[in-house]
Amino acid sequence: MPSDPHGPNVIMVKGAAMLLTTTGGGVAVHLTAAADEPGTGREAVHDFYFDGDWHDRPDAVASYDRAALTEPRWSHTTLCGREWAIMVGGDGGAIGRYGEVAFAPTCRRCLALIDRHFPKPTRDSRLTLVAQLAADVVVNQRGFVEILDVPGDQQDELRKTVRAMVRQLTGHSVRSHSINGVVHVECPAIHNQRADQGMHDVAEALDALFKGKPPPRLERDWAISWAGWDIT
Ligand SMILES: [Zn+2]
Repeated sequence: MPSDPHGPNVIMVKGAAMLLTTTGGGVAVHLTAAADEPGTGREAVHDFYFDGDWHDRPDAVASYDRAALTEPRWSHTTLCGREWAIMVGGDGGAIGRYGEVAFAPTCRRCLALIDRHFPKPTRDSRLTLVAQLAADVVVNQRGFVEILDVPGDQQDELRKTVRAMVRQLTGHSVRSHSINGVVHVECPAIHNQRADQGMHDVAEALDALFKGKPPPRLERDWAISWAGWDIT
């Protein structure tokens, strides 16, 4: 046995493992997601591939982790809806004499369907309220805002909503980013205006943030906590 057998040949898509698979007949490499219900799926490679007595290249398959590859965790169809035959070989080499090795999907349907496979997250009930508070801090106070403890699935929608609100109120351009659950939104025009009015401390803190450096310690009256507005 090799000391470090290889697991399923997967790529990570939005945090989820997708198995690279083939239907056996063609050269296309498809994507197969995990089954909806754990234990109801099928194995990446049929168990009989690991029984060397009939297999023509037992050495190849032997470099894979049998338990991991025969775990019934994968959907019975590819993202594009085809029944698939077997996992495409990866780091451990080809599986079977005619097996291919691939590290990326080639099926255009599968690639096009990736986004649809991940449903849009449900909009949290507090999102509009937090966005309004944040937009108010940007427009009427600092020119920017920091929103703390924002759940990962709400960050994109929150950024989009605050940016739209600020743009609508001021007509200025707005930028945003998120790091470690903290969403930053800035309106450079307002922020520069405020900076001219003597708020150099804030300008420095903001500059540091957008350069990825830790900001100097200030009283953070521009920060809003997502967790503080749970109204449900
Ligand atoms: Zn496909």
